[in-house]
Amino acid sequence: MKQEPIDNHIDDPVETKPKDEKKTEQTEEGGQFNCALCGWSERYHGHGTSLSFARGIVFNEDAYAMRDPFVPYGQNLYFFLGAPCSACQRLVCTNCSLFYSKRFCKECALKHVQHFPAEVQKKIRELGTNKSE
Ligand SMILES: [Zn+2]
Ligand SMILES: [Zn+2]
Repeated sequence: MKQEPIDNHIDDPVETKPKDEKKTEQTEEGGQFNCALCGWSERYHGHGTSLSFARGIVFNEDAYAMRDPFVPYGQNLYFFLGAPCSACQRLVCTNCSLFYSKRFCKECALKHVQHFPAEVQKKIRELGTNKSE
């Protein structure tokens, strides 16, 4: 015998759109961001060149970002986590990559270091000597 779920919900005759505060944290959007180089992992809420929670912001890469959990939805605040390397396509965090017209992971940047301008080469070498353990 099927048990009916207890439902106190009364159908609202007026269609009221729920406000943003009704949004739960358990939305299905996003997933787990995993850096291919350092293994850092963080939840992301969306990726692409534009994000629903960063309206008006256009990324010139497939950006992976997390909504800032400490601000109400809709304030366009987000954490940029990383993006795929344009050369090897691996997903890398900002600490393991740099953006110079395209996203390059540490390894690809080092491989092509001579193609970058001097100031960028310096940055690449800093990536190469990762101080975080
Ligand atoms: Zn990383
Ligand atoms: Zn790469």
